[in-house]
Amino acid sequence: MKKSPKSRCASCRDMECYDGKDCFELSDLHRSMYQDPYISKLHRAATAIEGRHYCQEPRISEIMLFAREMNFKRLGLAFCIGLSEEARVIEKILSREFKVISVCCKVSGIAKGDYHLEQIRPGKPIEVMCNPAGQAQILNDAKTDLNVICGLCVGHDAIFTMQSKAPVTTLITKDRVLGHNPAAALYVRYIRRNLLPDEGA
Ligand code: SF4
Ligand code: SF4
Repeated sequence: MKKSPKSRCASCRDMECYDGKDCFELSDLHRSMYQDPYISKLHRAATAIEGRHYCQEPRISEIMLFAREMNFKRLGLAFCIGLSEEARVIEKILSREFKVISVCCKVSGIAKGDYHLEQIRPGKPIEVMCNPAGQAQILNDAKTDLNVICGLCVGHDAIFTMQSKAPVTTLITKDRVLGHNPAAALYVRYIRRNLLPDEGA
């Protein structure tokens, strides 16, 4: 029987799609989505890098391999000011092979107060807002081939991704509490049980 496309794959125990099962009878539609030449090219390159370097390279090297496979020349780096030290190292590494255009989240220095945004420190006269749309605009203007996210906040990363003309990949996912390793919340039972109190993990 055909399952509802609203089925929750994450709760599936079978994972038979791994062996070719088409649970939702959507494979024809999904195949057609790879007929777009650019999507097809990105997909071919991503799959090649996965296959050739499986479990052999850190993500930053995989990004460089992917960019090389795509013959990309110009990489954008959209970083959070809180990870500016990391951004400096990333820029240095990527610049060995690519033209890198990096943009800080506070670019343009727009005060949160101008938009009545909530501040981290409410009494502070000027607290500058993160400006992910502006980061994307600058990188769009620079005609980057691929944009790399370094530690943008939850939601700001969504805006950046929506506004970016170039494809976007994430190198560092910010987690201010867990050393930028959000998956640790799932592995550490003391944290997990706060997130799933009913399971008494
Ligand atoms: S077999 Fe795969 S596609 Fe089908 S429900 Fe399970 S996880 Fe989802
Ligand atoms: S936006 Fe200005 S202050 Fe911020 S990192 Fe870039 S150059 Fe420096």
